[in-house]
Amino acid sequence: MIDRYSRQMLFRGIGKRGQQKLGSSSSVVIIGCGALGTVIATSLVRAGVGKVKIIDRDLIEYHNLQRQTLFTEEDVRDKLPKAVAAERYLRKVNSSVEVEGVVADVHYGNIEKLVASADLIMDGLDNPETRFLINDVSLKHKIPWIYGGAIITYGMTMNIIPGETPCFRCVFHSPPPKGMIPTCDTAGVIAPAPMLIASLQSAEALKILVGAREINRDVVTVDVWQGSFDRFRPAFDPDCPACRGNYEFLKPEFGIRSTVLCGQYSVQVNDPGMEKLSLNKLARQLETQGEVENKEIMLEFKTDGKEMVIFPDGRLILKNSFDETMAKDLYFKYISGKEKEPGKSKSKQRG
Ligand SMILES: [Zn+2]
Repeated sequence: MIDRYSRQMLFRGIGKRGQQKLGSSSSVVIIGCGALGTVIATSLVRAGVGKVKIIDRDLIEYHNLQRQTLFTEEDVRDKLPKAVAAERYLRKVNSSVEVEGVVADVHYGNIEKLVASADLIMDGLDNPETRFLINDVSLKHKIPWIYGGAIITYGMTMNIIPGETPCFRCVFHSPPPKGMIPTCDTAGVIAPAPMLIASLQSAEALKILVGAREINRDVVTVDVWQGSFDRFRPAFDPDCPACRGNYEFLKPEFGIRSTVLCGQYSVQVNDPGMEKLSLNKLARQLETQGEVENKEIMLEFKTDGKEMVIFPDGRLILKNSFDETMAKDLYFKYISGKEKEPGKSKSKQRG
């Protein structure tokens, strides 16, 4: 073991004590196993971090191979989930590390369970909404997390240490409206950008795990095409809900997702944290509030001039409307608020 880690132990910042800390007691959860997550996972597993859990919901596709360093063409042909392929590969790299791949979509209903007992959460995500969820769970359970994002040729990273540094919400306030920000799917990305950001994240992770003092408190931005680094010191926002203990993104009403169904002049709403619905039970509850027709495979519900269809998998379709906010409100009023018991999750999918 000593031999395997000899080169990083020669560095005073890690040393023998640091190495023991990494190995014996450190547990890291990586959320998202794309360009950032694969580099972070490989760095931390090779460094000998005791436990590494990798969570991702997607299958590997050919266009991932350009920058997602753990995967091969064979994985694409085998249609493997990223979390499964990452676990298989990394166990071969370092059998002394407890590597666990979890195939799951992280949402308000399962995140607390998924990060329970973690010392550190690593952001390997490609969407801003889930980062606000990570931020809330981090502050609530006092688990540090390291934000990272990269697109085209540039990227950004920041450490969030609950109670010590400003949080993600202090800096970014709220998720941008859907479709307003470029993504790797629409704007592209070159591999060095996420690789560099993930390397910075990994170095900060090692520092946090060994208890180093020189933890970075700045937001660091990088443009690999320009070859430029920049940094600024973030400030606490006195109105930040998360820092005041209001964890909005962990609440079901923030977790509910809506999609406009353009061709049908309707809005679909679903709640990823929802268990399967009992239509009979829901029909009885809704009878007092409107007109219900139970068609076994779905409920039709009319109330207050609004027409809805509800499916047993927890989807609601609001007809004759494009109003997503109203659809979400109705969903919470008639389904989520009634059916859901707080804290329940459906995180049973495993890789
Ligand atoms: Zn804050």
